[in-house]
Amino acid sequence: MTPTKLYCDFFGHNYEITKKVTKHVKEYTCKCCKKQLTTDSNGRLIELTPKYQDINSALERVYNNRIMRLKQKSLHSSIC
Ligand SMILES: [Zn+2]
Repeated sequence: MTPTKLYCDFFGHNYEITKKVTKHVKEYTCKCCKKQLTTDSNGRLIELTPKYQDINSALERVYNNRIMRLKQKSLHSSIC
């Protein structure tokens, strides 16, 4: 066991947001041991597994497309 891991076990992980997937879903990384978490569909924090990395990148694509469409729509309506 590394000292960093011991620190996390003792004081708890020191998570920071590393990625905003959607408004509600974010990815977190522990600054000490690099453990990664994400938000699941129920808003709970869970370990960021490869499966959830896939889900998040799909979510991100859908979310960005929607934002882009909304922007185009509002631009269009402001012109008209
Ligand atoms: Zn940690």
